[in-house]
Amino acid sequence: MTRVLVLNCGSSSVRYRLFDGDDVRAKGLIQRIGESGGDAADHDAALQGLMDRLDLSDLAAVGHRVVHGGELFTESTVITDEVVAAVEDLIPLAPLHNPGALAGIRVARKLLPDVPQVAVFDTAFHSTIPAEGVLWAVDRDLARRFGLRRYGFHGTSHAYVSRETARILGRPPEDTNVITLHLGNGASAAAVRGGRCEATSMGMTPLSGLVMGTRSGDIDPSLIFHLHRAGGLPLDEIEDSLTRHGGLAGLAGANDMREVLERRAAGDPDAALAFDVYIRRLKEYIGSYLAVLGRVDAITFTAGVGENSPDVRAAALAGLEPLGITVDPARNTDSAVIISPDDAPVAVCVVPTEEELEIANESRRALSLAP
Ligand code: AMP
Repeated sequence: MTRVLVLNCGSSSVRYRLFDGDDVRAKGLIQRIGESGGDAADHDAALQGLMDRLDLSDLAAVGHRVVHGGELFTESTVITDEVVAAVEDLIPLAPLHNPGALAGIRVARKLLPDVPQVAVFDTAFHSTIPAEGVLWAVDRDLARRFGLRRYGFHGTSHAYVSRETARILGRPPEDTNVITLHLGNGASAAAVRGGRCEATSMGMTPLSGLVMGTRSGDIDPSLIFHLHRAGGLPLDEIEDSLTRHGGLAGLAGANDMREVLERRAAGDPDAALAFDVYIRRLKEYIGSYLAVLGRVDAITFTAGVGENSPDVRAAALAGLEPLGITVDPARNTDSAVIISPDDAPVAVCVVPTEEELEIANESRRALSLAP
């Protein structure tokens, strides 16, 4: 009995996948919850409809994706009333993300009271980052009072693809060092030594680090003060701008990398510059993580852009041949897995991420169930 229902509940959507072992029995997306013309009136109705449609006999667990686990949750955790209360306490750190997950947890516990439920946190994989990699050089009393530190996100993806990379290369995971590049609409990099994360690019929230679809990634924080004082912009407006009108959207007017690549190919200078800024930031993180890890066995691309754009992969690693990093253009195609030459000191890989499968397996691990 290893069937697991995975729920990824956002503020207005529910993504679900029903696993039997590794096999997917059902999957789908309920969208625009609560909006007129949407798929459901609220999370209650969305999940009730789902339970009515799916065959949930022999269900061993429900695995919930929870974005922010704060400092408390360093691994996947069986859900109790105390866990729900603790995730509620983390809402100030993740106002856009944790409320959706909580709604899903509440309704699923009500509708499936006899099925164990597990919270799988985006932050947990990063809990092994040492203190020097999570602290900023700010007043330590303020940092303690307000939880100012790096937590990191996309943890299930970085965990899955770093482990898969070792498997693909036929190496022991505990002796494989990987830089993982999760390049989707949200994007983050991680440095993984022997299966343990040592550095990641997102911070207290998913706003920092790489250039993303609509998020700025790293900025000088002073520009917030400047926009507020000199520009008279309210803080909410600045947050909205950096979160929803930054990144590729801010630079090129399009958040979708496909559109940026098409416009760049057609000679659009804004799209060309957006691409260059995106690639430059990637290179800066790759260089930083080469220095953090010292020995790197593989660099792995994943998520929408990483899995599908040979141009981004080639540009991100161009010029790094003296460091043993080479992309073979003949291998850097749509269906590629290893895109470096056979004798390269650093393997370059493309590994499709499987966040839902990782959540299902984490749920089984947390409950000590057979895979
Ligand atoms: P994700 O968040 O992982 O679903 O990734 C979504 C992003 O992947 C989209 O916004 C696109 O920018 C990007 N993407 C998907 N297919 C391609 C492609 N063939 N080339 C470049 N980017 C792509």
